[in-house]
Amino acid sequence: MKKVVKFGGSSLASAEQFRKVGEIIRSDEGRRYVVPSAPGKRFAKDTKVTDMLYQCYRLAEEGADFDRALAAIQARYQEIIDGLELDLSLDGEFAVIKEQFAAQAGRDYAASRGEYLNGIVMANYLGYEFVDAAEVIVFDSEGNFLEEKTNAIMSARLADAERAVVPGFYGACEDGSIKTFSRGGSDVTGSVVARAVHADIYENWTDVSGFLIADPRIIENPKAIRTITYKELRELAYMGASVLHEDAIFPVHKEGIPINIRNTNCPEDEGTMIVRKTCRKPEFTITGIAGKKGFVAINIEKDMMNSEIGFGRKVLSAFEENGISFEHLPSGIDTLTVFVHRDEFVEKEQKVLSLIQQYTNPDSIEIDNDLALIAVVGRAMKEKRGTAARVFAALAHNNINVKMIDQGSSELNIIIGVREYDFENAVRAIYDIFVTSEL
Ligand code: ADP
Ligand code: ASP
Ligand code: MG
Repeated sequence: MKKVVKFGGSSLASAEQFRKVGEIIRSDEGRRYVVPSAPGKRFAKDTKVTDMLYQCYRLAEEGADFDRALAAIQARYQEIIDGLELDLSLDGEFAVIKEQFAAQAGRDYAASRGEYLNGIVMANYLGYEFVDAAEVIVFDSEGNFLEEKTNAIMSARLADAERAVVPGFYGACEDGSIKTFSRGGSDVTGSVVARAVHADIYENWTDVSGFLIADPRIIENPKAIRTITYKELRELAYMGASVLHEDAIFPVHKEGIPINIRNTNCPEDEGTMIVRKTCRKPEFTITGIAGKKGFVAINIEKDMMNSEIGFGRKVLSAFEENGISFEHLPSGIDTLTVFVHRDEFVEKEQKVLSLIQQYTNPDSIEIDNDLALIAVVGRAMKEKRGTAARVFAALAHNNINVKMIDQGSSELNIIIGVREYDFENAVRAIYDIFVTSEL
C-alpha cells in the first residue's frame, strides 16, 4: 500500500498535535508521503501561522519594522521543536526569510514559508526526506498551475524517494518566484502528490471525523457522510463546505484514487470516503447541505421576453463585458434573474445596469440584495419523488421565504435562494426534514 497523508493546520498546531500525527504515520508502513500545512490555531482565538506571515509581510511592504512580528512566528516553531526535543535550528532559515521580506519577495513567498518551515520540522521529526514544493510544483508566468508538467516532474523526483515530506500550499513559477494556491490549498498539494506517486489512497487528516452532512458551526453534531462521490463533494465544496479545497478533487479524479477524510484527534473513526463511483446507497435522501451568503439577484422583466431571440445572451454580455461571472440564471416567461457574488458586482453595478438597459430595453430591472444560496446535494435524490416539495414544505413551515429554486439537470442538486438572515434557519430546517426525521 502506498498512501499520501495530508495534515491540516490544526493537526500540526503544537508539539502535542505533532506527536499524534507521528503516531498515525508510524502506525502504518504505507504512509510514505506526507504533506503538512502550516501550524494552525491551538485554541479558538489563536492566529494561524499563515495569517501571521501575511501580517508580518504587510509591515515589510510598508517599510515598517517587522522584527517582532517575525520573532513571534519563529517562536511558534521553536515551541514545537522544543516540545518534540528535536536537534534542529531554524535560525539560518529565518535569517534568509528576513532578508527576503526586506527585499519584498512577494506575498506568496511570505505565506508559503509557513508550510516550508513546517515541512522541515516534520521531515526532521519523522526522519523522512524533505522535498521542497518549489522544485516539484510548477506554475506558468501568469500564475496558472501547470498540472501535467508538475505531474511529470513530481513523479520523477518522488520515484527516488522512499519516504518524503512535501510541504503543502505552494510551488514556483518558471522564473523561480514562489506562488501559492488559494487559501486551504495544501489539500490540492496532497492530491497532486497522490496522483504523481500513484497512491492507493489519499488520506486528508483534519479536526472533524469526516465530511459532515452540514456545517458543524450551524448544526450541532451533524452526522458524518460515510461515502460520497467526487461530483457530490465538488458541489458541496464549491458552495462553502470548507473541509476540502474544491480543486483538490481534480488530480486524484484522473487516477480514480479515493480520498479519505480523517480526524487526527480521533484516528479510530473511519471518516468519509470520497470515490468516483459507488454502489453504496446514502443513508438519507440527501448526501449533504452547504451554502454561502453574499449574493445579489438582478431581476429583469420584459413582456414577451420569451419570443425575443438572443435576450439571454444580451443580458449576460452586460456581465461578461464587466468581467463578472454569474452563479445561477433562473427564468420565467417574461422574467430573467441573474445571481452574482456581491463582492464582484458591487463596484461595477451601475455600468452593468446601464448596459442591460441599452442592450435589452426591459420593462423593469430590480435588485435584490443580501441573499444566500443553499445547495442540497445527493445522488439518491433523483430516485425519490417529492424531494423539492419536501424542501419547500420544510422552509414554509419555518416561515422562510424562498427567493429562488433551481434544480440542476443532473438532479444531483437543488439550489435554493433565501434572505441572508434566514440562512442558518433554512439549513437547520432542511437538515431536520431529511436527516433528523429519517433517522
Ligand atoms: P484543515 O486545517 O485540517 O485543513 P479546515 O479548517 O480547512 O481544516 O477544514 C475543517 C473545518 O471545516 C472543520 O473544522 C469545520 O468547522 C469546517 N466545515 C465546514 N463545513 C463542513 C462539513 N460539511 N463537514 C465537516 N467540516 C466542515
Ligand atoms: N496554510 C494555508 C492556509 O491557511 C494552506 C492550508 O492550510 O491548506 O490557507
Ligand atoms: Mg483546510
